[in-house]
Amino acid sequence: MSIEVKNISKFYGEQKALDNVGFSIKKGEIVGFLGPNGAGKSTMMKIITGFVIATEGTVLVSDFDIGTNKIKAQKNIGYLPEHNPLYLDLYVREYLAFNADLHQVAKSRINEVITLTGLTPESHKKIGELSKGYRQRVGLATALLHHPDVLILDEPTTGLDPNQLVEIRDLIKNIGKNKTVFLSTHIMQEVEAICDRIIIIDKGKIVTDKTLNNLVAEQTEQIIEVEFDKNVNEHELAFIPNLKSVKNTHGLVWELTFSTATDMRSEVFDFAQKNGLKTLQISLKNKNLEQIFREKTAKK
Ligand code: ADP
Ligand code: MG
Repeated sequence: MSIEVKNISKFYGEQKALDNVGFSIKKGEIVGFLGPNGAGKSTMMKIITGFVIATEGTVLVSDFDIGTNKIKAQKNIGYLPEHNPLYLDLYVREYLAFNADLHQVAKSRINEVITLTGLTPESHKKIGELSKGYRQRVGLATALLHHPDVLILDEPTTGLDPNQLVEIRDLIKNIGKNKTVFLSTHIMQEVEAICDRIIIIDKGKIVTDKTLNNLVAEQTEQIIEVEFDKNVNEHELAFIPNLKSVKNTHGLVWELTFSTATDMRSEVFDFAQKNGLKTLQISLKNKNLEQIFREKTAKK
């Protein structure tokens, strides 16, 4: 295993930030760590990287215990902290050289990580002159300097504009081809775009740990989007079997949610026919992952 988290709890004074958290991540996986603000994502990542000490439990990174074998464990970890703290007055190369010294890696590695993270066109500038997207590249380049097997990225795309967002996601995906990546976010689409697996945390507890495919497959509801040629009354639609809820999304288009996984499209066609309606379009929609996330982390 690349990362093994066992029974981790963390108290900040009276406040419980993590409550008996456990999961493991295999070599080469890209796992999204998703949760609302304050759920405990950064705390978990700081514990994995050895910057915060857990109140209870153990973490192994590449089989080294972060509590008892911290230096060896940290050699295997590249960490991009939340808010990516950088020295804005340093030139990109100066900053990378400073970090290369800390890790005792050869200076030749600096050019390698610059190329790897697409920093080349901006590499002669001061960090303070860079856009947020390029600053994230500097953070990623720094995290990669010492050839770590495991990357811990805390909200790597928060605050980026839509173009930068796509670029940094692609970069992470690319880097992730030969590394284990554990990345936090509060955006579900991010997980969909980058990850194979998702771990959802809410109020310090893991509420879901599944591959994306399984998460979608296990849904017992089904959503059908349908457009009729004429207006329909909501109470008429209620006669379709297994219907759970209806929403008029726009114009003559309806979103029908069924409490069954069985394909209900033919029932919808039958309904239209019985009521003298024509079906202009009909499609099965997967419940979107954003909805699943909201359900899993809804305030109770
Ligand atoms: P996330 O990264 O998911 O937003 P955090 O791990 O930052 O969540 O925070 C989890 C909880 O722990 C929050 O309630 C936060 O206020 C609290 N917390 C985080 N860091 C500290 C700290 N250094 N001292 C006290 N409480 C903290
Ligand atoms: Mg955080």
